[in-house]
Amino acid sequence: MPAKRILVSGGAGFLGSHLCERLLSEGHDVLCVDNFFSCDKRNILHLRDNPRFELIRHDVTFPLYVEVDEIYNLACPASPIHYQHDSVQTIKTCVHGAINMLGLAKRVGATIFQASTSEVYGDPEEHPQKESYWGNVNPIGLRSCYDEGKRCAEALFFAYHRQNGLPIKVGRIFNTYGPHMHPRDGRVVSNFIMQALRNEPITIYGDGTQTRSFCYVDDLIDCFLAMMGTEKDFAGPVNMGNPGEFTIGELAARVVDMTGSRSKIIHEPLPADDPRQRRPDIALAREKLGWEPRITLEEGLARTIPWFEKMVASGE
Ligand code: NAD
Ligand code: UDP
Repeated sequence: MPAKRILVSGGAGFLGSHLCERLLSEGHDVLCVDNFFSCDKRNILHLRDNPRFELIRHDVTFPLYVEVDEIYNLACPASPIHYQHDSVQTIKTCVHGAINMLGLAKRVGATIFQASTSEVYGDPEEHPQKESYWGNVNPIGLRSCYDEGKRCAEALFFAYHRQNGLPIKVGRIFNTYGPHMHPRDGRVVSNFIMQALRNEPITIYGDGTQTRSFCYVDDLIDCFLAMMGTEKDFAGPVNMGNPGEFTIGELAARVVDMTGSRSKIIHEPLPADDPRQRRPDIALAREKLGWEPRITLEEGLARTIPWFEKMVASGE
């Protein structure tokens, strides 16, 4: 495959840094665009000396003029703590960021991928969630800056697709974890592993019966590339995640067990609008992308824990 010039917005973040690594390993030129709002520069330091890697400090809520063949639009804080920290900026990043990236794609004729989210389904009344489900989102709740921002971004992507014939690829990502997660981003996997490694109390919000489906990052990046490789007219949206479903209580027990921790489990109040259940129906990804996740939660945690051990050792 000839080398392409590929822009990854949010490229220094958790998923973005893995994507940059993968695209470079396949011989592409990668332009990483990030304003470092919710990431750690250490994620991409090892890529700096690669002549095919270029980094621009830039906020996607402002226009960007570059020449590229493909765009992966990942810029947006993903953890509830980060996206609720400045909810107005989160909405701007979702909406103005999408408009700027779509405008760029239109000008240069690039195919553009949108990192959408299972949060478009809100607190789902349909289980598991299929792409045809319209969701159950509180439009004014604490999570709405992210949920509605991402829903508006999907609307923008499909508007550009219909109106301008722009080739778009929309992926709805379910909870994903792995090395390069920010150790203090407040997401459940990073929190539990950091707490377990420090023998601090493991904080389960609510009674721990709420469920999530956890996908290991390498599986997800395979899915991104498979989606980008689909025929020009296939836009999605496609659910991207691991259909294995676990309660948060089960996750806590597994992390304690695998780290050999002395941590006790404590319960804290459940945040407002916290979805009760979440599991992707991935039939469409299987059919259209020939993709399904291969890494079990056990294996994925075993690959992730050493990363957090290094973080703890470095004083995080
Ligand atoms: P992350 O917070 O680690 O990465 C997001 C990156 O975007 C960060 O590097 C951040 O600095 C950057 N960013 C934020 N606002 C920006 C702006 N205005 N301009 C430029 N850069 C900006 O999160 P992640 O887990 O890597 O998520 C990446 C994308 O995938 C996000 O769009 C997120 O909504 C989506 N997603 C992730 C998950 C998951 O479980 N990891 C699930 C669903 C959707
Ligand atoms: N959670 C928890 N303890 C924590 C962090 C999160 O019990 O220390 C719960 C949270 O309330 C939610 C689930 O774990 O029910 C997943 O939370 P996360 O923030 O990772 O992502 P979400 O899927 O809610 O966006």
